[in-house]
Amino acid sequence: MSRDRILKAMSRVPRERFVSPTLESLAYADYPLPIGGEQTISSFETVVLLCTALLLRGGERVLEVGTGSGYQAAVLAELGCKVYSVERVAELSRGARKLLDRLGYLRVLVRLGDGADGWPEYAPFDRIVVTAACPDVPRPLTEQLAHGGILVLPVGGRKSQRLVRITRRMSGQFMQAALDQCNFVPLLGKWGWAEEPHCARVPRLSGGVLPGGGPWG
Ligand code: SAH
Repeated sequence: MSRDRILKAMSRVPRERFVSPTLESLAYADYPLPIGGEQTISSFETVVLLCTALLLRGGERVLEVGTGSGYQAAVLAELGCKVYSVERVAELSRGARKLLDRLGYLRVLVRLGDGADGWPEYAPFDRIVVTAACPDVPRPLTEQLAHGGILVLPVGGRKSQRLVRITRRMSGQFMQAALDQCNFVPLLGKWGWAEEPHCARVPRLSGGVLPGGGPWG
């Protein structure tokens, strides 16, 4: 799917609604912003990057790991996908559900849980996208990928990763391609890192001062 088509779909999603009201004016700035629960909404360009990497045609059934604010899920819905999104932080999952309902994204299903376990009831998926950094490829996700499907995820360390695209051929064989260098918040749980509150913390924004870097998605 072309960048143009992706940008058009993104223009239909009110990104400012997915960040806290005090950060509304920064919603389109090209860096991730805090959304509570020590998590971030991915930057605008990161969302473009993920949508591009998924090689969507429209109409796919997509599993998203890391609902966060719900923004990426809304963009995928605008691209014509049926979205199944899993988030491990209850407060974020609830907030995303509420907002997606309010904006009319009723075709997006959200679930609270460890997304690295996938969503077996709805598997297999045509596309799977992980929006948190993985130390390794979670096996349940490759298992729940349809033949002919594509899994996109950041793989590497807590601070920096490589975006990887895994394609499952119709024959069932897996192929892997390394894409861009990236910087996502860590996947937590049994396929990710142990929860260590001091590590994934996002600095507070105050007085209009913008943080210069960090482990953000
Ligand atoms: N896609 C989101 C941004 C996600 S940030 C958006 O558009 O706003 C990464 C998210 O992954 C965070 O909300 C974090 O809580 C979540 N996460 C981390 N580990 C997870 C896991 N094991 N299962 C599900 N979600 C996870």
